Amino acid sequence: MRLLEWQGREILIREGIAVPEGEVVTEPAEARRVAERLKRPVVLKAQVPVGGRGKAGGIRLARTPEEAEAVARGLLGQSLKGFPVEKLLVVEAVEANAEHYLGLILDRSARMPLFLYSSRGGVDIEEVARESPELVSKVHIPPLEGPAAFRLRRLFALAPKDLRPALMDVAQKLWSAFLRYEANLLEINPLAEREGQLLALDAKVIIDEDHSPGPQFQGFEEAQVDLVEAEAKKAGMSYVRLDGDIGILGNGAGLVMATLDLVVQAGGRPANFLDIGGGARAERVKTGIELIPRDERVKVLFVNVFGGITRCDEVARGVVEAQHSRSLPVVIRLVGTNEEEGQRILASAGFVPVRTMEEGAAKAVALAKEARCAQ
Ligand code: GDP
Ligand code: MN
Repeated sequence: MRLLEWQGREILIREGIAVPEGEVVTEPAEARRVAERLKRPVVLKAQVPVGGRGKAGGIRLARTPEEAEAVARGLLGQSLKGFPVEKLLVVEAVEANAEHYLGLILDRSARMPLFLYSSRGGVDIEEVARESPELVSKVHIPPLEGPAAFRLRRLFALAPKDLRPALMDVAQKLWSAFLRYEANLLEINPLAEREGQLLALDAKVIIDEDHSPGPQFQGFEEAQVDLVEAEAKKAGMSYVRLDGDIGILGNGAGLVMATLDLVVQAGGRPANFLDIGGGARAERVKTGIELIPRDERVKVLFVNVFGGITRCDEVARGVVEAQHSRSLPVVIRLVGTNEEEGQRILASAGFVPVRTMEEGAAKAVALAKEARCAQ
């Protein structure tokens, strides 16, 4: 269960970790009142359960209360990365001297919690870890022992010296929150430094799905709707959002899962699971193909259909009729009932299908890589 930022922030506050002053609001006028009360420029932050909100336009600065109201009016009710924006966090705009990263995750392969720290916060930590791994330090914590001082000293060896005591204090508090909230992940990015003080400017919290019942979780179970998932459901299909950039559409849960595996084996990352079900007609195929690109991360679409009850000509018609605002490369593998007719429809619309699933997976992965490089 991924919490929204304002809920994660609430957990940090309860542990005594400093955060910028502010409040969560649902109305533009409330945003203005918060800005009036704070008497300084504010940052308005869309409360959706995904990262990268800054780049997607979900984090905005407002210098006056009037501006705060206008920005809030623009953000509330919009959708961001497929999620409706129903709440905004309005916080004082912090002038940071530096942005750090501090995370605590459950490392399943080591069966231990793992602290991650970098003095290069604010940006995507995975990118930092890829490009300059020496700037990210990692220290496992044996759960029965807890975060002993010597381990934290090692974790913060890369940190500015004068900041280490404050960092150790935040790490201790993060650890106690990790246990108290049965978390799989707690992440503060950025952990900003303002005049020697640390302030958590963002909070990402994932609580274990099987957490025990307890009063500490009250108020966190707010329903979180994924708009794409909801629409797929309405159209009779099952959609599950994943982390990657290769959109997947297939018929039958088994085939779709096999497709996901092949894409991963070929070195790619699926963006979703989408099963259009058995016997899908052109209309449903079209709806499915139009839904996937609504996730902005998707760079290529891989359609893998094995016709049985489902007829290839219907699928091909759906593929050809589908419209979406972004032009994405489409990889299609289409075999089975009415295959010739399906292939003819695809060919006359300029699609060049692949013959096997393996070939399709390799091609989709290559195209996704190309699209990443072109960015
Ligand atoms: P995310 O992009 O979804 O992870 O959202 P964040 O809350 O991390 O915000 C993205 C970026 O906006 C941060 O890395 C900061 O650089 C910036 N930001 C967020 N809040 C503040 C703030 O209060 N003051 C300043 N100066 N920058 C902020
Ligand atoms: Mn962040």
